[in-house]
Amino acid sequence: MLAVVPPPVTVRVPAKVNLHLAVDDLREDGYHELVTVFQALSLTDEVTVAVTDEPGLEIYGEGEGSVLADGTNLAWRAVEALSAHVGRTEEPNVRVVLRKGIPVAGGMAGGSADAAATLVGLSSLWNLDVTRDELAEIAAGLGSDVPFALYGGTALGTGRGEQLVPVLSRHTFHWVLAFDSEGLSTPKVFKELDRLRAAGNPPRIGSHTPVVEALASGDPRQLALLLGNDLQAAAVSLRPELRRTLRAGVNAGALAGTVSGSGPTCAFLCEDARSAVEVAAELSGAGVCRTVRVAHGPVPGARVVGGDDAP
Ligand code: ATP
Repeated sequence: MLAVVPPPVTVRVPAKVNLHLAVDDLREDGYHELVTVFQALSLTDEVTVAVTDEPGLEIYGEGEGSVLADGTNLAWRAVEALSAHVGRTEEPNVRVVLRKGIPVAGGMAGGSADAAATLVGLSSLWNLDVTRDELAEIAAGLGSDVPFALYGGTALGTGRGEQLVPVLSRHTFHWVLAFDSEGLSTPKVFKELDRLRAAGNPPRIGSHTPVVEALASGDPRQLALLLGNDLQAAAVSLRPELRRTLRAGVNAGALAGTVSGSGPTCAFLCEDARSAVEVAAELSGAGVCRTVRVAHGPVPGARVVGGDDAP
């Protein structure tokens, strides 16, 4: 009798921007405690998983050629983690195709997004009976930003960013994203922050509470005043040109700009959708970045495309 091969499953997964990213001092175990407010944006990767007799990974789009398509890729590590979780011991007979729209090493958690999408895609492909909360536990083992990519929306993250509580966000916020021509390594940016703090006392952002209140009010002007990122000084110290990019976005009419996570992507909050298109057009012509994208948020986390049966 012929075995029935399930059809491939495609999952769309959002990038994140940090509206607030407070970084505590380096702990003895080498990690920093974070308090962050994430928002999931309409800038996405698409991940297709399929049963195959030629297991492996293919990568197209942003960063193709610069991201390794091997066992170190976070998407493949997600295949292995889910296989182990459900007790599949044989080599996974899956092919994973990444179509990346999220810049690589851009501070928008693209690798984490791919891992989250792979978990959701495989759960559907293998018809697994796992809840999203169960997937989130596996996700946290893969990286601190992976659980957020599963849930999406707007959330407060603590610990290393993996302990999440949803945050009420009224209305849609409109963003312009400026991609840089080269990525920044997250560990290097954290090291630079430690160096800056050892050398002096760079200002730290305050509490996240006003940001949460601004999100509930839905007023982009109020939120714009409160965007803050302790990693921004370190990213700018490593990539001084970002100062010019941040200035150019505000000169183009954005309400405010911030470095996203560890950078170097700059995210500009705009008054509304029309203003975002105008800011994007002007920023494109300013010659301060490689590519400009318009996005809105919050959007949902990793979801099967064309289906609503995802865990
Ligand atoms: P972080 O989540 O640490 O803020 P980031 O958003 O700045 O990271 P990513 O695009 O997630 O950056 O990539 C960080 C590094 O992870 C890359 O330099 C790459 O070598 C590695 N990586 C592994 N898997 C992937 C993937 N599927 N997509 C992109 N990068 C990946």
